[in-house]
Amino acid sequence: MSEKSEDGVNTICPYCGVGCGLKLHEGDEQGEVNIKPWFEAPVNEGALCIKGGAATEVVDHEERLMDPLIREDGEFREATWDEAFELITDEMQRIRDERGPDAMGFFGSSKCTNEENYLLQKLARRYGTNNVDNCTRMCHASTVAALRQSLGMGAMTNSMRDLREAADVFWIQGANPAEQHPIAHSQYFRQAILEDAFVVQVDPHVNKTSRDADLHLQVKPGTDIPLLNVVLKMILDNDWVDEEFIEARTEGYEEFVETLDEFDSEEAAEICGVPLEDIQRAAEEYATAENAAIFTGMGMSQHACGTDNVQNLINLALATGNLGRPGTGVNPLRGQNNVQGTCDVGTMYNTFPGYIPIDDDEKRKEVEEVWGFELPTTPGLSNVEISKAAGDTVHGLYVMGENPIISEPNANEVKRRLEQLEFMVVQDIFMSETAELADVVLPATSWAERGGTVTNTDRRVQRMRAATRVPGNTRHDLDILTEVGTRLFGDGFEFDAPEAVFEEIRQVMPIYHGMTYDRLGLEGLQWPCYDKDDEGDPYLYQETFETANGLGKMRGVEHQPPKEVPDEEYPFVLTTARLEEHYNTGTMSTRSPTLNRRTPENFVDVHPEDAERLGIEDEQYVKLVSRRGEVVVKANVNENVEQGVIWSTPHFADSPINQLTNDVLDPVAKIPEYKASAARVDVDVEP
Ligand code: SF4
Repeated sequence: MSEKSEDGVNTICPYCGVGCGLKLHEGDEQGEVNIKPWFEAPVNEGALCIKGGAATEVVDHEERLMDPLIREDGEFREATWDEAFELITDEMQRIRDERGPDAMGFFGSSKCTNEENYLLQKLARRYGTNNVDNCTRMCHASTVAALRQSLGMGAMTNSMRDLREAADVFWIQGANPAEQHPIAHSQYFRQAILEDAFVVQVDPHVNKTSRDADLHLQVKPGTDIPLLNVVLKMILDNDWVDEEFIEARTEGYEEFVETLDEFDSEEAAEICGVPLEDIQRAAEEYATAENAAIFTGMGMSQHACGTDNVQNLINLALATGNLGRPGTGVNPLRGQNNVQGTCDVGTMYNTFPGYIPIDDDEKRKEVEEVWGFELPTTPGLSNVEISKAAGDTVHGLYVMGENPIISEPNANEVKRRLEQLEFMVVQDIFMSETAELADVVLPATSWAERGGTVTNTDRRVQRMRAATRVPGNTRHDLDILTEVGTRLFGDGFEFDAPEAVFEEIRQVMPIYHGMTYDRLGLEGLQWPCYDKDDEGDPYLYQETFETANGLGKMRGVEHQPPKEVPDEEYPFVLTTARLEEHYNTGTMSTRSPTLNRRTPENFVDVHPEDAERLGIEDEQYVKLVSRRGEVVVKANVNENVEQGVIWSTPHFADSPINQLTNDVLDPVAKIPEYKASAARVDVDVEP
């Protein structure tokens, strides 16, 4: 049955993790698609931000890849699909025969659907390796790790809807939803603010969210733990803890309290660069509210102590009993439209679908029974580790919709490493900086041309639907993977449509088991959804946590300065974030005229006193230099940063800030420390 009506088809915005619904209908020109509001969409009720409103600009774009390309004598030539598939399968077999399965790496993509990512990780595991990962490693891997360890599930505890209706205090740390999740901000948070919710934002940069906040704590980059310890110490000293909740539902409280026995709040406030009385006021607002909700973003997660940063937010929620009911919780705001789902379906080096640890023998066997082959049990490499091992122990790479040469830290080294691979295949909709290095480039369909499911930031699984024909010689990622899998292994990959893949996902993932395409309908369902009568859970942990003993884990953490701190040669802390019109490495968004017009080039915010000392005029080009590279950008002289801090965006491929950032990893979650690198600003440069 066709899913198109006169009104168009209902689908989901391809950009951020809010998961806004919209309608698409075909225009008069071949391939043209237009957006109409979907007023009944469950998340956004018809509203879209600038990115969602401009999302069709990349669909019928003249630079879309239209044919498979094979590199020959250093140049790409057009090839048939058959030639491309033959080369890919020959090379993958050769690498496995000569070097073993762990010599290949696989990168999934949060821009692709659950079904496509599920197939990619199944392909990796059938090949015999756990070297498979996705870009959550660069955004919320530490959040997922801390939430899973201490509460049980690596996802937002609550829903945007219940937070708007019930939260009295919003504690937003290291996130800027007004820029990065605009509809979540305008439809939910701002609405709550208008109804008198109190907002605290902790962030080193003045931004759109801080301008709406009642209290902005402009913390120095990398000092979130001491700031939260001041808050926790004050809560203990004033007896604002929820003793009943702690007694019934947590463990580790006594040890946690001991870690703060000797804690000096004045000294900590100085380390953070925030007045003690402001932190204490924020603590009182949070701890004495009826319902207080925490939001966290990459300002917390992208540190070498990212897992501990998020653990301290969990400590705050557990100590005050702010979990397990509407308007509370610890809520990561996810960046891409399917980063939650990409993790759910097991596109990670350490978990199989449904977050089954690779060393859980019993549960692994259940997956093996459905898949019909033995799963690899050797721990895999994360995506940053795969890039670091390229040319050393990793010799082949399969990349679906990712651009690590721009997105990974220490990007010059990433490029140097990927150049040493024996074989790389990239499937994408545009030629990216990574695809330029590939041996085979496969043209994939865009978001408007394919169907499948995506899972948004509050665990809502929603259906995307194709609105227009498959252009040129492109193919769906799903069809490419079924072909590669079938050619390599003969069976296990014969799926004719996304729904058939989803039916297998339901068999191996209990949290999706109660969902079917019919049940998802237009509203979607929030996981966990265990059986066909289960309506899903808008908020988690009402009675118990999903840990082995059902208790939430408290664990005190101490300040760990960034691994690279300013010195004489590199006297600034460089920190990064993005703006509303940005999306990842700009492969799509810089090709959108509407988005590109707003901020056509990269820039760096420099404090006026630093600018005066260095002789920098507003809008002058400067060179940012770190131990790993140098990039020329325009200086914006303003007070959005404190002295000694500079702030830029990793969005632009022609001034790639990730050539400067540090690739040191959080030891638990293996997320890199993007948010704090030592750098200097050189003035004498040609633009
Ligand atoms: Fe798309 Fe996110 Fe904007 Fe919604 S808020 S329209 S999902 S980019």
